Amino acid sequence: MKEQIFSYIDKSTPLAVELETELTKRPAVSPDSDGEGELDKCVFLEGWLKKHGITQLERYDAPDPRAKGGVRPSLIATIPGAADDSGAADDSGAADDSGRLWIMSHIDVVPPGELSLWKSDPWTVIQASDGPLGPRLIGRGVEDNQQGLTSSVLAMLAFVEQGLKPSRTVKLLFVADEENGSGYGIDWLLENHGDLFQKNDMVIIPDSGDSKGESIEIAEKNLIWARFVTRGLQAHGSRPDQGANAHLAGADLAVRLHYELSAKFGDHDSLFEPDYSTFQPTKKEANVPNINTIPGEDVFCMDMRILPRYPIQSVLAEIDRIKAEVAAKHKVTIEYSLPQSKESQPTAPDAPVVKFLSKAIQEVYGVTARTIGIGGGTVGAYLRNAGIDSVVWARFDNTAHQPNEYALLENILGDAKVMARLMM
Ligand SMILES: [Zn+2]
Repeated sequence: MKEQIFSYIDKSTPLAVELETELTKRPAVSPDSDGEGELDKCVFLEGWLKKHGITQLERYDAPDPRAKGGVRPSLIATIPGAADDSGAADDSGAADDSGRLWIMSHIDVVPPGELSLWKSDPWTVIQASDGPLGPRLIGRGVEDNQQGLTSSVLAMLAFVEQGLKPSRTVKLLFVADEENGSGYGIDWLLENHGDLFQKNDMVIIPDSGDSKGESIEIAEKNLIWARFVTRGLQAHGSRPDQGANAHLAGADLAVRLHYELSAKFGDHDSLFEPDYSTFQPTKKEANVPNINTIPGEDVFCMDMRILPRYPIQSVLAEIDRIKAEVAAKHKVTIEYSLPQSKESQPTAPDAPVVKFLSKAIQEVYGVTARTIGIGGGTVGAYLRNAGIDSVVWARFDNTAHQPNEYALLENILGDAKVMARLMM
């Protein structure tokens, strides 16, 4: 079976080029970035899959009045596994603990950015093979995330078009709205159709990786974005005795938060890079326009990436303590809001999905994979938090969001083989 599947994939370059070209022609840019959304691209994909014999398709439309058709569509393509032929009911529980394999890619793309930086039209795929890179496709979205999407489709077609059955049920999930927070994508799906997923499912998200294909991302840091507003009393620059300097208090708070939180939540974990929690003052909003006024109001923001072992609540409690001390010392009031706070459960390094994937990577690419954690804020967190083992992996040159984005054909076909191996 393996030889038959791999030789199909080896011959599938024309299919990969066709699919990438047609997908790129249909810019699925979010309304948040002044685009129309994913409808045209999703409808095309649905039709293309049907034409090629993948017929078990379900659409899930998240309502969004700003988008074309008023919806942000996600699509699921299923092929049943050989085990399902026995007629054993899924809901018998113990009957099937092998889990179904999901491969989740996203349909949406980011805008091309500065057009003068592109050497070709971003929405027209061109092929190139010059230079040291090797044969590749160029266009917006060809890597992020159509490489993963195309690889997963090729892997599925290798079974369907040759009348073969995967050992486990395979579901390809094409989601909307990954680039702008997933509120109309996987987050919406989990909220409204959470029963789609089962606890023993395995999920591969081919949306990040390195050029050797050796990094399997299993965890991310907890994320807090905080915006602090400090209010004191405005005064002349020469009369601090008559005011309460909001900027001085804000600066004191920023410095104390940085050092005291770093010390309090100071563990190291080699899964991550850097291997410690980070608490960084970032955005600083303007206060008074002139030098000789003591500001009565001051606003700054912090970006915090915290090892998953520390619950967000424990960090917020510490922030509240420091904030109260600073407010009393400077005679100001301090309020804060959280534009983002996301906790994230890791997938275990010895989870079945990690083992199977590592084996497949070794077999196809001859490299030994290692597990890593990242800074946070990816779609993997939604599924992991729902208790489903999920890993982010692909072999990528990481040209996502850049001008002249490209995907190597070798990686599209190689990743398809890794995915097909998991389906066996
Ligand atoms: Zn992506």
